[in-house]
Amino acid sequence: MKAMVLNDICSFDKGTKPLRLEDWRDPVPGGHEILIKVAACGVCHTELDEIEGRTPPPNFPIILGHEVVGRVAEKGREVTKFNIGDRVGVGWINSACEQCSYCLEGNENLCKDFKATGRDAHGGYAEYTVVLEGYAHKIPEIFSDIQAAPLLCAGAIGYRSLRLTGIKDGQNLGLTGFGASAHLVMKMVRKKYPGTKVFVFARSKKERDFAKELGAVWAGDTAEESPEKLDSIIDTTPAWKPIVEALKNLERGGRLVINAIRKEDGDKDCLLQVDYASHIWLEKEIKSVANVAGRDISEFLELAARIPIKPEVQEFALKEANQALSQLRAGNIRGAKVLRMN
Ligand SMILES: [Zn+2]
Ligand SMILES: [Zn+2]
Repeated sequence: MKAMVLNDICSFDKGTKPLRLEDWRDPVPGGHEILIKVAACGVCHTELDEIEGRTPPPNFPIILGHEVVGRVAEKGREVTKFNIGDRVGVGWINSACEQCSYCLEGNENLCKDFKATGRDAHGGYAEYTVVLEGYAHKIPEIFSDIQAAPLLCAGAIGYRSLRLTGIKDGQNLGLTGFGASAHLVMKMVRKKYPGTKVFVFARSKKERDFAKELGAVWAGDTAEESPEKLDSIIDTTPAWKPIVEALKNLERGGRLVINAIRKEDGDKDCLLQVDYASHIWLEKEIKSVANVAGRDISEFLELAARIPIKPEVQEFALKEANQALSQLRAGNIRGAKVLRMN
């Protein structure tokens, strides 16, 4: 099979190509595993963190990609959940211990021993991949392969973030950054909480315009003050400044949910500008999101199909994975980037 492979951690400067197109032997599914013929795989900011070593893969070479959509091509003897030809998706959680208190309460994203797709196990930047059947999700008919891919990560994590804000219909919501995840949150909010006003903070005018197109009542630059206080804010940026700026816009008792697997160090000194009285006092809360659990993916796919939420996508061929990543690196975001296998 063809695969785009990461052979080592590297700094992803302009012009570097961290992934190499290689020919690998097709993987073979064991007892509870299915072999997936990959049709599409979303490109996620977390891949940049893996490539640059902020969340490094433990072994090389590794095939990245954790927004995998395809059909079951073969299955192990013990597989009962899927049949050959079923369309399935795989997200960030590739496996977990299934025994700890977090796993047992459906928060396997907090399991100490979970393995991540495309970091600890080979992912979807390839023509085939294998996964345990319990970590694959049925994809609703309504979505094309390309549309379904970003729902598995950006969409599901947006769903979890929105759930963790505890927002009620009619309360004000802020979004800092307006990439793949945020634009899906916007669509969810418009349907699920029609009385909620959404305020968007984004550096680029393009993102701000896109946000208004999708129904934001206001869109401003990162440091601007929102015209109304915000009951909850979801941060989807890799930087620190947006969260420091966001805290001043938070309503009393409000909650900031940080939806990022890692923050970059570039502007960490912004944290020194945190002023207790205006940024934190009055019972403001800060909570992070630790990626997604399986139930977030299945609940979100069902919700997305009902609404329906169809993400804006930009397609690339598998061999163009480096271009897709470098455009993501440059902040060139309009909707989600997805690799198409053929
Ligand atoms: Zn992701
Ligand atoms: Zn566990």
